[in-house]
Amino acid sequence: MSLSEKKRKVKEAVLIPPHTHCKVCGKAIPEGQIYCSKECREKDLNRSKRDKRTMWIFYGVFMAILVVMLIVAYTFK
Ligand SMILES: [Zn+2]
Repeated sequence: MSLSEKKRKVKEAVLIPPHTHCKVCGKAIPEGQIYCSKECREKDLNRSKRDKRTMWIFYGVFMAILVVMLIVAYTFK
């Protein structure tokens, strides 16, 4: 790579408009957007839905254990 070519590359890097990266795949997208495509948006929505469901399952299991412990404590006092 010649010196002038290097200089041009640096100039191009400076000229890249403000941008952000897709939350899912990391692709460069215009600023203000979160996802590069509908597919990535759906992927992220599905993931957060699954995370929420997992959280509720854990919560349910925790409550069940608590109730069982209360029943056991009440029965054997
Ligand atoms: Zn993406």
